Parts: sequence; structure tokens; C-alpha cells
Amino acid sequence: MDMMKLNNLSKEFKKLILESENIAVGSHLNPDGDNLGSVTAMITLLKNLGKKPVFLLDDLIPSSFLFLPNISEGVSPSDLLNNKFDLFIALDCSDADRMGDNLKNILNKSLKSINIDHHKTNENFADLNIVDIKSPATCELLFRILEKCEFNLDKDIATSLYTGLSTDTGSFKYDSVNSETFRIASELVKYNINLNEIAVNVYQSRSLEKTNLLIRALNSIEYYCDNKIAIATVTINDMDITNAAKGDADGIVEFVRDIEGVELAVLLKEKKDSIRVSLRSKSVINCTNIASKFNGGGHVRASGATIDHTDLKKAIEEIVEAAREELWYEGVTNFW
Ligand code: 5GP
Ligand code: MN
Repeated sequence: MDMMKLNNLSKEFKKLILESENIAVGSHLNPDGDNLGSVTAMITLLKNLGKKPVFLLDDLIPSSFLFLPNISEGVSPSDLLNNKFDLFIALDCSDADRMGDNLKNILNKSLKSINIDHHKTNENFADLNIVDIKSPATCELLFRILEKCEFNLDKDIATSLYTGLSTDTGSFKYDSVNSETFRIASELVKYNINLNEIAVNVYQSRSLEKTNLLIRALNSIEYYCDNKIAIATVTINDMDITNAAKGDADGIVEFVRDIEGVELAVLLKEKKDSIRVSLRSKSVINCTNIASKFNGGGHVRASGATIDHTDLKKAIEEIVEAAREELWYEGVTNFW
């Protein structure tokens, strides 16, 4: 997004924030670091500005993010369904459905709405849409907006933003990273944030249950197309046997991607009525193209979708077929 456009949108953002009193900030289902980082940064900012923000989420918070400042403010929308907020802010959500029906209904009732996001598939569903698909993280985009608005940051806001920046860039490894990413990381570190606390909570606190689930998932890996595609599965039984918590399958697909020679990693997670698909690619495959064949979306290197049946074998065949086409399309043909 060019500077002028971000300037103008940031001005509108500031005006909406300053003229609103009761503000809802919405988190998405299966919240990740970028979502919870941007949401808690926003909650802290609004509190600092003397507003009355309500942090709405219709899901559980993974334990690795419970250290985030103001994370405990999160409330379930069930008691607030009839509330009419002055302003609803959605962060890191490509569409309103991503927040679940309850939050979507509250959004629709709110007087004004803001959508800040970096997904290519964003549907511009709010009154004010600040969407930068080149941005590596919503937290990165939010930092630039707050900078333009000349809002004061503090250690808590910086901790939240850094966490999302770190998680959505794969610890600053992904293609989306550029010199601006490091400038912003550097600015955030100036607030004396505790990098060790972030690293230990986010990356070095895998529970025994989650570890056991990872082991089972890695044991399930099957390779296709000359080992360029690797597919792992997590069944309901795997979840039960390991006593894994919701969200404990997060991070498995990255392990699969990191295998030498694997270009596309897929995790299929069995649900009661459907199968959740996570896709990660290394250098060539556009995951969005595959996800969109299953009505999903996301980014070039990381996408997701839901398959509306529970036949894992069939799902594997469908995914391999779609991935094979995508490999062919990208000119990778030495696996036939
Ligand atoms: P994950 O595999 O971690 O669930 O998702 C990877 C990426 O794809 C995330 O950026 C997420 O926003 C996006 N994504 C996951 N599931 C869906 C989906 O069902 N629809 C869309 N549009 N995007 C998704
Ligand atoms: Mn994100």
C-alpha cells in the first residue's frame, strides 16, 4: 500500500477511534499469535486513550499466548449479543465469518466498523478497510497505522505487536519479510520488551500432550509426487488418546514442511462433520490456489480450508490431485 493511501486511511482510523466510546475488538476463531497480538495491542491502546474497549472472542486462547498483556480481558460474546457498540474493530480477519456467527452479528449491529488485515482474500467487509496484502503480519500493519496516527506506544503494546510479527513471519524467515519488518521489530524492541519471555512462552513451552500429538502426527506422514508433497493427519482419536487441547495441532504442519525436499506440507485434521486442511509451501507452490479449490484461502505460503466430509482417505486423494495440478502449473514436472 502506498504511503499516501496509508496516511489517509490512518487519519480516518484515528477519527473513528477518537469519536467512539464503546468499542468492540474482535478476535477470530482458532486465534493465532498475529490475531491475539494485534487484538491485545488494540485493547491496551484503547484503554490508554481512556476508551471502554471490549475484547470479544468466541474461542479458547492457546496457553502459549496467555502471557500477552490484557489477554485476560477476553470475554465470550454470548452475554453481549444485544449490545450496540459505537465501533467494532476486526483484526487479522479476511472475512466476518472468520470470527464466528456471534461476533459477526455483533459487528453487523455496530454503528461503525474497521477491518485491519493482510490477507489477499480480504472481503473489505467493514466501513473502513485497511488491508495491505504485502504486509507480513497484521501486527506490522497496525504498527505503521499507529505510527501515522502518532499514538503513543508502551511496553505492553510493543510486546503484543512483536509477538504477532514474530509468529506470522515464522520468526522472520518468510518471503514476506523486508527491511521495514526489521525496522519495526527494532522500534518495538526499544520499548524494553522481554524477548526471553516471548520466546519461552511462544516457542519453548510445548506441553507433553501437544508433544505426544506431534509424535503421532509425524508418524502418520505419507509422501506423494517424489516426496515433494507430505501429508500428515490428526484424527479425533489422536486428540483423545494424547489428551491434547484444542489448538494443539497448530505448528505440526510447519514441522512437516521443514523436511528436506518437501515443497508442500499438508495437515488434515479430522473434525466431527468435516476435515480442516492446513497448507504450507516452501518455495514454489501457491497454497492459496489449492485452498481456494476447497473454498478456503490465506497466503501464498500458508493457507487453510475446510473439506465438508470426514473421509480422510478421500480427502488425501483430493488434496494430492489439487496439489499435483498446482505443481504442474508451476512447472515442477520431475515427479511424474
Ligand atoms: P492455518 O493453516 O494456520 O489454519 O491457516 C493458515 C492461513 O490460512 C492463515 O493465514 C489463515 O488466515 C488462512 N486460513 C485458514 N483457514 C482458512 C479458511 O477456511 N478460509 C480462509 N479464507 N483462510 C483461511
Ligand atoms: Mn496474520
